[in-house]
Amino acid sequence: MPADALATATELARSYLAGVGARPVGATATTAELRARLGVPLTEAGVEPAQVLTELARAADGGLVATAGSRYFGFVIGGSLPAALGADWLAAAWDQCAGLYVLSPAAAVVEEIAGGWLLDLFGLPATASVGFTTGCQTANFTGLAAGRHAVLARAGWDVEDKGLIGAPRVHILVGAQAHATIYSSLKMLGLGAGSARRVDADDQGRMRPDALRAALATCDGPTIVCAQAGEVNTGACDPFEPVADLCRAHGAWLHIDGAFGLWAATSPRLRHAVRGMERADSWATDAHKWLNVPYDSGLAFVADPEAHRAALTTRADYLVRVGGGTRDPSDYVPESSRRARGFAIYAALRALGRRGVADMIERCCALATRMAERLRAAPQVEILNDVALNQVLVRFRSPSGNDDAHTRVVIEQVQQDGTCWLGGTVWRGRAAMRISISAWNTTETDIDRSADAILAAAR
Ligand SMILES: *Cc1c(COP(=O)(O)O)cnc(C)c1O
Repeated sequence: MPADALATATELARSYLAGVGARPVGATATTAELRARLGVPLTEAGVEPAQVLTELARAADGGLVATAGSRYFGFVIGGSLPAALGADWLAAAWDQCAGLYVLSPAAAVVEEIAGGWLLDLFGLPATASVGFTTGCQTANFTGLAAGRHAVLARAGWDVEDKGLIGAPRVHILVGAQAHATIYSSLKMLGLGAGSARRVDADDQGRMRPDALRAALATCDGPTIVCAQAGEVNTGACDPFEPVADLCRAHGAWLHIDGAFGLWAATSPRLRHAVRGMERADSWATDAHKWLNVPYDSGLAFVADPEAHRAALTTRADYLVRVGGGTRDPSDYVPESSRRARGFAIYAALRALGRRGVADMIERCCALATRMAERLRAAPQVEILNDVALNQVLVRFRSPSGNDDAHTRVVIEQVQQDGTCWLGGTVWRGRAAMRISISAWNTTETDIDRSADAILAAAR
């Protein structure tokens, strides 16, 4: 009976979340153990739904990573706000397909409303269009697809119809510390990851305007510039005012990858970090990171809705359009059929309110500063970045002098200890521990406990 399965799922989810703060943050099962536990024979006859769920939860348990908890500091992840998780459950129960208006008027209108709230919170033009994507990689793809359309249309070339073979050359300029998914997007768009020219960055990873000016001077014809809000290691944001001035003067399309950094704009106290970003042509961000909604959920904004739609719309006689000013969600994303992820974003924003969004972002940044201060107090610790947002880069000095190896060992020990989880990176040629504070439920106590665990590992 379906009700049993849902009751079982609720109970399993509740018990997982109730215990998530007490379990080791990293996974504990080996690959072989997971394969053995999950690799049961697929039987000829099926199994009772509630039994499937109970056994799945038991078998998966050791392979789950406690990203829903408050001490996961790896990558840039974030948890799930209760309202967003609840709305995501409802979206699944309702089984809405958010492709066309006619498939789910509620999903389409919720995107419209939440999209308007987001434009307002970020301080973006109210006339910009919004796509609810799977993540920031698809949001980057979306923004760059709109840019590819616009710069080639201005050169008299219809790229959607004719493709890129024989098209005027598109110059692509990318900050030296651009995220890997900018390159994936360029690759998928046929623009070529290798054709992008890197613009020098400063010691925090910010694009240097003088380098951008020099690079733009060599670009004759269609040009796209990719800037960034929130470098994945340091959290630094490009200087958007001079970058936007230069792009405007050159007639270049300016895209901003702001997977997490764009959220600084929602806080009156942090907004200065992204000043000028509202002057770009397209923006990409994530909701599953700093807005703390369940995976998968990203957002693409485009200042020119015509370019946005021209790049992505899908037309066929049977794909019924209602018209009359209704919005078909699939016009703004690469996918056709997809999950109605707007419900979770809508719920998160309503549950937090304006002040709540800003508080969550500010709290994470304050906790990152607290973490940096706690760690910096130890003599063997060096903080490599200016902690301006939610990212902290840490390096550990070793008595033997091999700081790279020592830093990697400390990271491994912290991961094994299980109090918290964080990963490693290489920053300007040196190994570093990378800490990201992005979860709605992280507290000062979590930071202090984790700092103690990190310092114990370093000793
Ligand atoms: C996480 C991230 C991305 C990719 O986002 P996904 O949600 O993983 O697709 C892109 N850019 C930056 C700066 C990021 O931090």
